[in-house]
Amino acid sequence: MPHPAVVWDSALLKYDLGGEHPFNPVRLELTIRLATELGVLEDIPLLVPEPASDDELRRVHSDEYLAAVKQAPLAGWDVGHGLGTTDNPVFSDMHDATALVVGSTLLGARAIAEGATRRAVNIAGGLHHAMRDHASGFCVYNDCAVAISWLLDHGFERIAYVDTDVHHGDGVQTAFYSDPRVLTVSLHQHPFTLWPGTGYSAETGGPGAEGTAVNIPLPPGTRDPGWLRAFHAVVPSLLAEFRPQVLVTQCGVDSHEEDPLADLSLSVDGHRTIYRTLRALAEEHAEGRWLAVGGGGYQLIRVVPRSWTHLLATVLDRDLDPGTPVPPGWRTSVGRAAPNAELPLKMTDGAETEYRAWGDERDEPVDVAVRDTRRAVFPAHGLDPDDPRD
Ligand SMILES: [Zn+2]
Repeated sequence: MPHPAVVWDSALLKYDLGGEHPFNPVRLELTIRLATELGVLEDIPLLVPEPASDDELRRVHSDEYLAAVKQAPLAGWDVGHGLGTTDNPVFSDMHDATALVVGSTLLGARAIAEGATRRAVNIAGGLHHAMRDHASGFCVYNDCAVAISWLLDHGFERIAYVDTDVHHGDGVQTAFYSDPRVLTVSLHQHPFTLWPGTGYSAETGGPGAEGTAVNIPLPPGTRDPGWLRAFHAVVPSLLAEFRPQVLVTQCGVDSHEEDPLADLSLSVDGHRTIYRTLRALAEEHAEGRWLAVGGGGYQLIRVVPRSWTHLLATVLDRDLDPGTPVPPGWRTSVGRAAPNAELPLKMTDGAETEYRAWGDERDEPVDVAVRDTRRAVFPAHGLDPDDPRD
């Protein structure tokens, strides 16, 4: 089996919401530069994407919405469909730029479906909030949902989607809410405390698909050990029962303690541990097939480049020791462009990621979500919500 596929082209930097918008493509550029300087991408041929076609976008988006996105840069501000707002400003070439993001994730999906590789990664993907007929949460088209829909038509009938972004993966959940072939799992900051205000444990899937939407809402301030405790109490058992043929993961890193838009307290070390866990689960339960995409992440300099360099390294089986120094070349060039930024010295935050497995005598803040979610979805999968062995 050849190397895992890394999808990248600098044209992806054109998905730029402009001005002071937090979704700044510099995070991708700094990630690729850091991964390159650390040798993570050495000898890895990059897959260069094409924009997704209208037919591919229509898998999950309406004709009216596609027309609105295409016309938006010419039509001024009043185009509806969630466009032209503070979150989703209209920008030139927005259709082409977003179609390219979708095409990138599709390219990874294709490489896996054709058997050219078992793993693919697209750090520019992960636009998980986009809905059928409207933009939402910085997301115009939903690359995750298009890729899953495409995989369902190309030989796969059970796909698991795991979303570790700090925000609820609402667009993907909605797209497949009544489709029993897709298990969507989202761990996120509790909807009572964070946009988009959905992702309660009680959201479990539509008629005929009960138990295939899984939500784990975590209290603000949750750190790596709590996050991992909740993850391990719910996700591995479900994957073992669901037996996906592909694992698709949205790997947003706005769950970091320093992220300006949300209030979970994970670290770069936690992110690295999550990626290694996802890889192991893909190997154990998804026949090794793993399609990983990016997502949110708004600490552009100190967090995203390091966390997604760990993601790239993990997908490529080139795991980096947390103590690896950040290369001086990267620090110098970034320091020139952002003289006031406090640059990271190492690929670690020095955080503790050891967790205690759920089911002990303790009662931790995340256990409310663990119990609620297990009780909401485990019975539909033949699992006992109150037995920690399940
Ligand atoms: Zn997010």
